[in-house]
Amino acid sequence: MGRIYNFSAGPATLPEAVLQEAAEEMLDYRGTGMSVMEMSHRSKAYETIHNEAIADLRELMNIPDNYKVLFLQGGASTQFAMIPMNLMKNRVADYIITGQWAKKAYKEAQLYGKANAVASSEDKMFTYIPDCSDLPISPDADYVYICQNNTVFGTKYHTLPNTKGKLLVADVSSCFLSEPIDVTQYGIVYGGVQKNVGPAGTVIVIIREDLITDDVLPGTPTMLRYKTHADANSLYNTPPTYGIYICGKVFKWLKQRGGLAAMRDYNEKKASILYDYLDQSQMFKGTVEKKDRSLMNVPFVTGNPELDAKFIQEAKERGLENLKGYRTVGGMRASIYNAMPMDGVIALVEFMRDFERRNG
Ligand SMILES: *Cc1c(COP(=O)(O)O)cnc(C)c1O
Repeated sequence: MGRIYNFSAGPATLPEAVLQEAAEEMLDYRGTGMSVMEMSHRSKAYETIHNEAIADLRELMNIPDNYKVLFLQGGASTQFAMIPMNLMKNRVADYIITGQWAKKAYKEAQLYGKANAVASSEDKMFTYIPDCSDLPISPDADYVYICQNNTVFGTKYHTLPNTKGKLLVADVSSCFLSEPIDVTQYGIVYGGVQKNVGPAGTVIVIIREDLITDDVLPGTPTMLRYKTHADANSLYNTPPTYGIYICGKVFKWLKQRGGLAAMRDYNEKKASILYDYLDQSQMFKGTVEKKDRSLMNVPFVTGNPELDAKFIQEAKERGLENLKGYRTVGGMRASIYNAMPMDGVIALVEFMRDFERRNG
């Protein structure tokens, strides 16, 4: 039994070195005689894990002092509600709809106020990012919301929208730590970690300090207030300790590899192997506009659902798994997150070439 190349969109592949290390520490974490998941979240050993993870993330992302890092639960989807509950002072927010996750966030915000769809790419099945240089931003909008990398459709913002001075809030679940970002451009950057950082169950929220207040919508539960968690360094209640521990190991792995600029170079090289192949293939076609391509999620089709199914099946037999496209979209999708090695993408392209030769 060996490890396969796992192209799943999430939960997704993690660095083998991290899994190895976690395995070695499973029964006895560094002389404590117990596993991290059995440990009090108030213990010295856990406190060190927690605070090192925060410090390493700050260093990796170059997070300014006036931003807090929070480890929360409830998946990225809970943020769809938590954001309006905490930020919608005027009960108005502008959403840019570039895929199903942005759309879900937009729908959720409608429960709390007036959410405006100021741009959308739904007219072409979300295969592009709309021009966001001069949007009809609402004068009283509390924030402008984007999903920065669209996991399902494989598009990404290569430039951030012009929010005309409004606060920018971004879901970066599927591009977290894949390249450097300028945190100062955002009010909130958040993501579920199960795409690119760690195990499902942990959400990281990076939030500007002035947005952490008691001035939230009436009825906002204690657990859904950023202030609750910020005041307690994400230890108000039991945090997802094991998930944070694994995220911390991934942060150290990223630092060893040269940080986010090095990851961007690696991810660009990796993605271009696949995109270059798609661009010359007679059988496989990328489905999104070239200028808006994601580095992390690469959807493609043959145009023939039977051939797609055959491809997915044969790929699986070769240890190239989870290449099926999102259930509502069909075709194929290769998610090539940080932990997917170059060799995995090379193996995929070799197999695609071989499949095309045999079936073309
Ligand atoms: C997967 C995903 C979500 C949903 O995450 P959950 O943790 O399952 O709630 C939200 N946004 C993006 C961009 C995603 O990729």
